[in-house]
Amino acid sequence: MCDCSSCAYAPQFNRRRLLFGAAAAAAAAGASGWLGDARAAVPSNDIGPDEALKRLMAGNARYAANKPNMRDYSAGRAARAVTQKPIAAILGCSDSRVAPELAFDQGPGDLFIVRVAGNFVNEDGLASLEYGTLVLRAPLILVLGHDNCGAVDATVKALKDKTEYPGHLPALVNAIKPAVELASKSGAKDLMAAAVQANVRLAVERLKAAQPLLQEMVQQKKLGVVGGVYSLATGKVALV
Ligand SMILES: [Zn+2]
Repeated sequence: MCDCSSCAYAPQFNRRRLLFGAAAAAAAAGASGWLGDARAAVPSNDIGPDEALKRLMAGNARYAANKPNMRDYSAGRAARAVTQKPIAAILGCSDSRVAPELAFDQGPGDLFIVRVAGNFVNEDGLASLEYGTLVLRAPLILVLGHDNCGAVDATVKALKDKTEYPGHLPALVNAIKPAVELASKSGAKDLMAAAVQANVRLAVERLKAAQPLLQEMVQQKKLGVVGGVYSLATGKVALV
C-alpha cells in the first residue's frame, strides 16, 4: 500500500516543492527592493509549451529570411544578472554552424542550451535539462539535430566500414549507434538523413520518458518535448 510518505517518488516531489518554494520565497523577499524590480524586468517564461514552440519557429523564420530582430544586448543585462527565465531548453549538436540563439533569433536569457556532438541524451545533459525545466521552468525542450552531422556520419562509417576512432570518440559512436541501426533497418535511401531524424526522435522519446522528473512534467502538460532538424543550407528548422 502506498501512503505517499514512503512512496519511491516522495523524495523527488518534496525536493521539487522545496526548490519551487525557495524560488517563490526569494522572489517575494526581493519584491519591494532592487532585486525584485530587476527580476520583474526580465520577460516572464510563464507560457505553455505551444506558445514557446510558436516563438521559436517564428524566430527561425526571421533568421532564415535574414531578418532577425534588432537587439540592444546591454538592455536588460542588469536584470538578467539576478535571474533567468528561458522560454525553452535546447538539446543541440556542438556543430559550430548550428547556434541555437541565432537559429531561433533569441537573445541572452531566452534559451537554456545543452550541446553535445550528435545531440544525444546522456546523464549530465539530462540533469542539465532537468535544471532548465524544473528549476528555471522552461516549458519546452527542443532536440535540435541537423543535416550533414559529423557525429552521425562518423557513426555511419563506424558501422558500415568498421572505421575505428581514437581517444574518446567511440563514446559518441556508441551513443548514436541505435539511431543509425534504426535508420538502416528502415531501408531509407538516404541513410544519413534518416539517421539524423531517428537520432532526434530517440532523444525526444528518452526525454519524454525520463523518470522521475521530466516524464511527470510532460504528463501534466507543463512541459513539451519536440524535435527538429536544422538545414545547414537554408537555416530552416523542420519539426520531426
Ligand atoms: Zn552535428
